Formats: sequence, C-alpha cells, structure tokens
Amino acid sequence: MSSRAQLGLDTPLTEVRGIGAAYLKRIGKLGIHTAGDFLLYFPARYEDFSHSTTIAELTLGEEATIHAQVIKVTNKPLYRRRMTITEAILEDETGSVAAVWFNQPYLKDTLEDRRVSISGKLSLSGDHLVFSNPLYEVIGSDEPSEWGGVHTGRLVPVYPETRGVSSRWLRYKIKTLSGLVKQFKEFLPADILKRYKLPGIQTAILNMHFPRSERSAEAARKRFAFADMFVLQLFILQQKALLSREKAVSIPFDEQLVKRFIAALPFTLTLSQKKAMWEIFQDLERSRPMNRLLEGDVGSGKTVVAASAVIAVAARGYQSAFMAPTEILALQHFENLQKLMRPFNVSLGVMTSGKSVVFDPELGAYEVKKERLIELIAAGDIQLLVGTHSLIQDFISFPHLALVVIDEQHRFGVGQRTRLLYKGRDGAAPHNADSVEDADRKALAAWEKKAGYLPHLLSMTATPIPRTMALGIYGDLDMSLLRHMPKGRKKIQTSIVSPAGRARTYAFVKQELNAGRQAFVICPLVEDSEKLQAKAAVEEFAALEKIFLGFRVGLIHGKMKSAEKEKIMLSFNERHIDILVATSVIEVGIDVPNATCMIIEGAERFGLAQLHQLRGRIGRGEHQSHCFLFTDSAAKKTRLRLEALMTARDGYELAEQDLKIRGPGEFLGVKQSGIPDLAMKSLNNEKLIIAARTAAEEILREDPDLLRHPELAQRVNQFSRTVHLE
Ligand code: ADP
Ligand code: MG
Repeated sequence: MSSRAQLGLDTPLTEVRGIGAAYLKRIGKLGIHTAGDFLLYFPARYEDFSHSTTIAELTLGEEATIHAQVIKVTNKPLYRRRMTITEAILEDETGSVAAVWFNQPYLKDTLEDRRVSISGKLSLSGDHLVFSNPLYEVIGSDEPSEWGGVHTGRLVPVYPETRGVSSRWLRYKIKTLSGLVKQFKEFLPADILKRYKLPGIQTAILNMHFPRSERSAEAARKRFAFADMFVLQLFILQQKALLSREKAVSIPFDEQLVKRFIAALPFTLTLSQKKAMWEIFQDLERSRPMNRLLEGDVGSGKTVVAASAVIAVAARGYQSAFMAPTEILALQHFENLQKLMRPFNVSLGVMTSGKSVVFDPELGAYEVKKERLIELIAAGDIQLLVGTHSLIQDFISFPHLALVVIDEQHRFGVGQRTRLLYKGRDGAAPHNADSVEDADRKALAAWEKKAGYLPHLLSMTATPIPRTMALGIYGDLDMSLLRHMPKGRKKIQTSIVSPAGRARTYAFVKQELNAGRQAFVICPLVEDSEKLQAKAAVEEFAALEKIFLGFRVGLIHGKMKSAEKEKIMLSFNERHIDILVATSVIEVGIDVPNATCMIIEGAERFGLAQLHQLRGRIGRGEHQSHCFLFTDSAAKKTRLRLEALMTARDGYELAEQDLKIRGPGEFLGVKQSGIPDLAMKSLNNEKLIIAARTAAEEILREDPDLLRHPELAQRVNQFSRTVHLE
C-alpha cells in the first residue's frame, strides 16, 4: 500500500487507507471519488458544542461539552421494543452524569474505562439530567487532535449523509486527510479575493470543516458559493461570446408577410405578443444566431409568436424544428401549427416514437413511415418538423435548418441547450445523398456553401423565472416577456376544499358536466416514482367512476404507452370523455378550451408554480373556470401557502413565493443538475450573482479566452464537461 505522503488530490479511493469496498460504493453516491473530493464534501450545517463546562454546571436543555472519565458502561436490552440501550456513567472532579445511546451496543467496548469528550443536549430522565445520544470522542486515542476535538467540543460539522455513511465517519476521514489541503491551488484571481473579502481556497476548505466560529464558516461558504457562481458566469458569458462569433442565415423582415399572418389570426394579438414578434424578427435578420427566451405565463399565447417566426423562415425557403417536452404536446402543437400554417403554404411533419404524420397544404394530413419523413426532411420538402426533444438526439439531417424552437425550455439543462445549437451545424450535411441529388434544388446548393451556419434558437417557458435567477442561469439569453394576457380571459375561481367539502364540489362539477363542460382531476404527486403515481391514478379513476356514474371518465398517466396517451387526449379533446383523471403529465401545454373544472387532489404536495401550471390547463375558453384544491391538511401553513393561489395576481408573484419557500433547487427541478450545488443554492442571492457576473465580465473583457488565467480556464472547462455530460 502506498504511504500517506504520496497521497494526492486525485488519488483514487481504492488507494486511500481504510476505505473498504462497501464504503467505496456508498460514498461514490455522495460524489466522493478521490482523496481530494473528501475535502470538497461540505457540511450542511454545524452544531455548536464549543461551550465546555463541568458536570456540576450542566443545565437542562443546554448544548454542552464535558471532559470526563467513564466509570461504568452497561448494555440493557429492551425486549419489547427490540433495542439496546447503552448507559454510561461519567464523572469529573465536580460530579457525575449519565449518557445513553440507542442500538449501539459496541459502544461499551469503545468507552469503558476511557477518558472522553461528550457533546450533546441535556434532557431529563426521571429527576436526573442525562445526555441522550450525545456525540463522543475518546481522548488520547489514535484520532488526530491537532485541531482539537473532531466530534466534540467545537462547531461540529454535520454532513449530508447517505445510508451507511455517517457524519461521524466523514468527520474522521476528512480529519485524517486534511493535510491534503496544501495541494489545493487557488484559482480565483487575487484582486477578486481582495475586493470581495473572500478567504483563499486552503483557508476556506479548513474553515468549512474545522471552523473556529460561525463567521469563519460563513466566510468559507461564501467563497465557494462565489467561486461556483463565478465559474458558471464565465461559462455562460463565454458561450454567449462564442455564439456571437458564429454565423446564421439572415432572414430579412417581410412586413407584408407579417401583416398577412396577423390578419389571418382569429384574434387580436396582445401588445406584448407584437413586441416579442418584433424582437424575434430583428434577431432573425441578423447574421448571427438568435438565442432568445420567450417567457410568458400559461395561456399568454407563446405558440402563435413562435409560429410567426416559423412562417418567416419558411417563406425564405428554410426549415424549422419545433420541440416539445412530451409527445402529447408535440402532437397538439402539430395540430395547432397546421391551422396557423395553412394559409402560408408551409408543409410540416410531426415525429413521435409512435407515429409520423405529414401535413401538406394541398393533400392535407397523412401518416407516413418515420424513414419517409426523414427523407422528406433531408430533401427539404418539410419546412417545419415538430417533435420531442429526442429530435436533438436522433440523427436527423435538416439541410436548410435555420430555426429551432424549444417549448418549455426550463426542462432542458444548460448543456442540452448549447448542444442543441450545434446540432444545426451537424445537420448541414445531407442525411441521404441520393434523395438530395433527386431534390435538385438551387437553395440546397446555396446552403451547402454556407455549411457551418448555426440555426437561430427560440426557447419558450411558462415558468416565470424570477429576475435574479434568470440573471444567474439564463444570462446568455436575450429575453422577451409576454406580460399581458389576451383580452377577455376570465380569472379562474380557485378554492381550497377540506374533506368535508368534497361532496359539494363533486355535485358542482356534475352540474358543469351536465352543461356540456369537461373536467380534470389531478392525482397527488408521488415523489420520484412514476409507478406509484400511476397506481394512485388507477385507484382514483376507479373511485371516480363510481362517484360520477353516467359520465364518461378517462385516465391518463405517465406509465402508459405514448400511443395510448395520445388516443385518450384526442378523445378528451373531441369531448368523448367528460372527466379526465390525470397525473401531473398534463402539467404543461395541453389546450382544451371546453374544460372548465379542475380538482387537484393532495394539493399541498405540489409547488405553487406547479399548481399554477396545472391550473393553467383550464380557463382557456369563453366559460368561467373553477379550480378546487383538495387538501386533508389542516395546518395553517399549508392553507396560507395555498391561499397564495387565490390572491396572487399572476405566475410571477407565485414564482417569487415558491422560490422563497422551496429554494432554487426544487424550484427549477432536477434537470438543471449540471449547475454546482452552491451556485444553485445561491440563485436567490442577488448580490452574489451580480458580484460574480460583474467580476466575470471584467475578466473576460481583458482576457476573453482566459489565456492569462489558466487555472480559471481549467475550472470553466471542467464545468462545461459536466454540463455536457448531463
Ligand atoms: P401558452 O403561452 O401557454 O403556450 P398558447 O400559445 O397555447 O399559450 O395559447 C393559449 C390559447 O390562447 C390558444 O388557444 C391560443 O390560440 C389563444 N391565443 C393566443 N393569443 C391570443 C390572443 N392574442 N387573443 C386571444 N387568444 C389568443
Ligand atoms: Mg404552450
């Protein structure tokens, strides 16, 4: 075995003393793969046991540390509760006190006759004070003591744990490896450290694990949060700069065409829709790729804005790809876009795992084999392809691709977005040489000369992203906001319903159904398990069939085959189903204007923004809509939280609240996982984001490729690799 002196930051754990195979796997889950990773594994919080005292001075409820001799240890089995209690009697020169531990009988051997440090909270047992499950440390053992106590007598770090890996074990390991800290090289420029009063990397690491005060721990945490955010900003800004050096097809603004498009719509555009279109047309006219985020509350009418761009692109003989997060949505977009495209002679196709359909302005819609659709695209005969984001993964060649639209873009990670942009360039090579020869198009020849161009990118999201957060993670995008809702939208009447109100609600919904309307019933969220969620939905469905006898009840959930889901959505759309029982798969985008009621079971389990999204499925037509938030929880906090849905003016207000309540990680969802932990956590820290961004801008102004900051460049590279692996 190699000696300790040879340990380096990158030494794999198999070569680190005292880590068995079982542990390797467990800590792998925590992201610890090398010796250095241990030191970068940070505590979630600290327990303050820095106050040392004597046994005589202990008081009830106090958190304290004592140094004492163990006089006696006994293990008592508790047969009825099938556990063991270990009780130790501790003594110092001022008195004695007991300590108990549960289910750790081996402690008897560890503690018997030793001198120990004990840190914990004092509770009462009968009329005695007792330490219950305190932290302990044997004094004079082989545990290192250069920094004082490891587990006791200080600000004791508590680490995020996983099954079989305790904070105690981590503290010990980190302690034994702490000498490695000298190998960490500073990568933040000195003037930045100075300007923001941040500790250097080595001090910061030590202060994360062995802080002398809350303040030094806080300063360390700030340093790492800043560093993560700074690297993220460098990455984003470099991506932006990179993109601005790329070329894209310029689509000249065609006023006549836009006027015709607007005139053909069955409604008047809102002011913000017009403004967004204008911003997009200006971007398209430039000969570098657009990278714009169109943000608008549910129902604000994003689709039609995107459609105007598609038509402008098609009019110049180029292609667009339109991607939705689910197949149902892709199919629905296909239907809607057909209507919008018809007067403009645009041919479009949709590709899902189940089927491929082509819409030809002259022949109408017809189903084709997937291969055929791919051929038509490669030949340039399809001007708009709709599909799910698997369009980026599949090798589909769009010889004339000039525009990519992504719906519900927050579901895509940072990495997926950038990869997507370059997909267009990959696609510049014809997919099928034969069909291209046949095609005999001048435009194609022209295109091939331009190979190397990137498509314009329009992302859309209905998740109102608070300003601070947007700056933090979408800083590479230009933004268009749909602030106004189309005229005549009625506010959805929302109420919180306790179990006692169920019957009344069902009666009300029946009334609506009898009047020809339709309803959604959303099943409770089951964390991380589509299977359990599907099961809950099946049960709910069975129950509702009985309650709504005589009505047609449908069911849709995530475990269904996509063709099946599609059939159900279609039949709901065509009013063959009165009540649709659904899991949150319908969260985004589905548009059935005749649906006016929504019951959300277990409403308290959803985030506010998510509830708002769900609710956005109704209130899309001329009739008044009603949303019922079912909850069994009588807790005042739950009620207050849900009440925000009745009072908030719009999704933005809800998003801000949601962000406050749940924190950035939950708010954004798992898909953004490419972002480092601490950067993620600081996405609601405006000051930090602005500081990191300003610092990044300044450094890139002087040194755009970070040639003079190799350590930083390496960090950014590392980050971009993790992001692209997502
Ligand atoms: P979202 O922004 O949630 O994607 P959609 O694009 O699906 O919203 O639009 C919601 C509904 O509103 C659609 O039926 C659409 O045709 C309609 N719509 C869009 N813009 C307007 C408008 N300016 N006036 C009236 N209805 C509109
Ligand atoms: Mg939409």
